[in-house]
Amino acid sequence: MRLADHTTLRVGGFAAAALVATTEAELIAAVRKADDMGTPVLLLGGGSNLLVADEGFAGLVLQTKVRGIHHQDIGDLVFVTAACGEPWDGFVSVCLSSGAHGLEALSGIPGDVGATPIQNVGAYGVEVGNLIASVRVWDRQDQQQRDLSPQECEFTYRSSIFKAQPDRWIVLAVTFALARTGLSRIAYDQLAELLDLEVGDTALPSRIRESVLRLRRSKGMVLDETDCDTWSAGSFFTNPIVSAEVARQLPLDCPRYPASAGAKLSAAWLIQHSGIEPGFGLNDRARISTKHTLALTNRGQASAADIIELAKIVRAQVLSTFAIELKPEVRLVGCSLD
Ligand SMILES: Cc1cc2nc3c(=O)[nH]c(=O)nc-3n(C[C@H](O)[C@H](O)[C@H](O)COP(=O)(O)OP(=O)(O)OC[C@H]3O[C@@H](n4cnc5c(N)ncnc54)[C@H](O)[C@@H]3O)c2cc1C
Repeated sequence: MRLADHTTLRVGGFAAAALVATTEAELIAAVRKADDMGTPVLLLGGGSNLLVADEGFAGLVLQTKVRGIHHQDIGDLVFVTAACGEPWDGFVSVCLSSGAHGLEALSGIPGDVGATPIQNVGAYGVEVGNLIASVRVWDRQDQQQRDLSPQECEFTYRSSIFKAQPDRWIVLAVTFALARTGLSRIAYDQLAELLDLEVGDTALPSRIRESVLRLRRSKGMVLDETDCDTWSAGSFFTNPIVSAEVARQLPLDCPRYPASAGAKLSAAWLIQHSGIEPGFGLNDRARISTKHTLALTNRGQASAADIIELAKIVRAQVLSTFAIELKPEVRLVGCSLD
């Protein structure tokens, strides 16, 4: 298997071995066997948050294609469980059609359900960790299945226990606690603006989904075979969280949002204001998206090395301009920015 054919950045060399698991039993058996033999394992969902080296992966790439969704009504809530291989956006759409609300602001995010807890995916003011009731996992360390509560998942901004310990957990299925109420609250200014509403107002979940998809498309954040601006891994860097002291020293027009440790900054703003414009690149192979400075894109012929080189330039430029070091949001496999 060539990883370039299975990742949205369209880069990455060959895997030494590859397997597709279509049931939980197959998935667990394959991981157990690899662990017994000391073979490294890379879990692969939609490949939309991965940058794999041109040298490939010297181990087993295990594709999670386990499917299945079921609902259970308890009081005012509906608990919807999806197997790890359910495509995320299809799942969001199924939930909305069945009257289960809460995930609509996360419409259009590529990838599968099983990866959503890994980096606590988020968009438009909503994070998946706030809607997760439990995550069923295979624990490779203790060799057992477990149901983890949201507290045990240790969700934080674009992180979790799964991201912190990538070689320990296999996400088998995720249960979401969703509402049956008719309206959802808007938590993001651009979304409110598009709907002609204020942050904190409510709107029909179907309208929120439509508007989110519109906004995302305008930024190249919905996968499109015909648009190189979407041949990315989404936001390449996380929004940096800095102390109040550091935030005070930044230009007044630098957007900042409250965060537990001080202030959360906009990585896209920092990149653009360090002199890197949309569409910037060192060659015709790898460029910043023309629609969003936080997306590093493959224009068709890029290698992983091209993407890494571009990422290093962007990071160095922000560091020299603002003395802030951007951290990758994307999981780097076999390569690094150092
Ligand atoms: C155009 C675009 C827009 C995006 N927009 C957003 C956004 O708005 N918000 C956001 O948060 N992210 C966004 N992303 C990033 C990405 O889509 C999400 O992180 C997504 O959840 C990754 O899912 P995936 O199935 O593709 O995971 P993969 O890329 O296949 O894997 C990601 C990581 O999770 C691990 N993994 C995958 N499945 C499992 C499993 N079952 N058990 C254990 N580990 C597993 C992998 O080993 C890897 O470390 C975007 C990406 C793109 C390309």
